[in-house]
Amino acid sequence: MREELFSHIERSRGEMVGFLRKLVGIDTQVPPGQNYDVICDVIADKLAECGCDVAIHEAPERYLRLSGAEHLGLKGPRSNVVARYKGGRGKPTLHLSAHIDTAPIQGEGWSVNPLGGEVTADNPYGRSPYDRGGGYLWGRGASDDKGECTAMVYAVKALNELGVRLDGDIILTANCDEEIGGIAGLGFLIKEGIVKADYGVQLDGSLTGIGLAAQGRARFIIRTLGRSYHGQVPILGINAIEKMSKINVALNDYWRNVLLRRRRPTPGIELPSELKEAGVTELTAMLNIGTIKGGVQGATVPDRCEEEILRGMIPGETLDDVRKEIISVIEGVRATDMDLRYELELINFREGYVMPPEHPYVQEVRSLIKDVIGRELPFTGTLASTDMNYQVNEGGMPCVNFGVGGPYSNAHRQDESVAVDEVVECTKIVALLCLRMLGGHA
Ligand SMILES: [Zn+2]
Repeated sequence: MREELFSHIERSRGEMVGFLRKLVGIDTQVPPGQNYDVICDVIADKLAECGCDVAIHEAPERYLRLSGAEHLGLKGPRSNVVARYKGGRGKPTLHLSAHIDTAPIQGEGWSVNPLGGEVTADNPYGRSPYDRGGGYLWGRGASDDKGECTAMVYAVKALNELGVRLDGDIILTANCDEEIGGIAGLGFLIKEGIVKADYGVQLDGSLTGIGLAAQGRARFIIRTLGRSYHGQVPILGINAIEKMSKINVALNDYWRNVLLRRRRPTPGIELPSELKEAGVTELTAMLNIGTIKGGVQGATVPDRCEEEILRGMIPGETLDDVRKEIISVIEGVRATDMDLRYELELINFREGYVMPPEHPYVQEVRSLIKDVIGRELPFTGTLASTDMNYQVNEGGMPCVNFGVGGPYSNAHRQDESVAVDEVVECTKIVALLCLRMLGGHA
């Protein structure tokens, strides 16, 4: 069964390249995250052909507000594909998730068309360890995360075409807005009970490790309000930039001296080597001041300054704690400066998560992947985040994260690509996982 499945997937590679090229050709960069309805139609049609019951769920207005839609400049419907490939007994259920949105394209600096899906034999940025001569497909989202969308669709397609009967159901979601927190994507689908499953796979990683832990994050706007005056008589104004500068000195002190000491050990889970080299061996709270703007010219005292900050949260920290701490840092500044007036506004947030490496499902996935690729992958953690938090925290599913792409693939940068052989390999893993977890027979 396994060999039949794998050779069927190998034979589908031409078709897979065509499908992935089609997905890459649809501009779903977020913000603004337009065309989700268009890409959902393409994926839904294909999954319907594969014998799935398919529906498209659009997140309502409330979820757009929670996403920070106005601040981020989101446009268009928040569409998500939910498909069910039914097994004979309907249980257990396995949820496969991949995201349809991409990081922003960044207009400049591409040597290929970011929406082109061109295929080349070689890759000047490096080689995938899975490259067996299948070439590289180029464009925004090729590795993050449309390669994974393709892998999950073609895994189910292979099972269907081979007439494999499963006991349990596969639930596939092609969900939106992952890059901005997934609130109107997988967050919406799981919080509303549209997706419920016994086991989860988040296809938003790589085949260099099995992702089990990630940080959360909260994005805020801080605004200081002053009083405008002629810039040559600043003594009579209240300078909003000066006030923000004081806040930023305090925020820097807070993150360097307080947050960096706040760690969450994750035994058995490794962080990327560049972090370990920087002395970060555990999930660690951090803060980034990402933007600042204010003022009109040198000869005017600015009455307004605004910045965006991102607070990296270790698993277990809540939004409430984080917000209270930031307020107390700013209030500490205000205690020495009663002219300081400010506003703190949440843009959006997502929690962190840790999946224990000793969990039997996690162990099962690791041995299955080894069975396909011939070596054991390490368990890994990231200071970034993925939609797996919704599966683990809200959905209560044991879950793992893997996918396609690596250092060669330039995810989130210009000249993104994916090795076609890696997409094929990932498809095999997903198909075999469905077979093993859901009791497949011919
Ligand atoms: Zn991704």
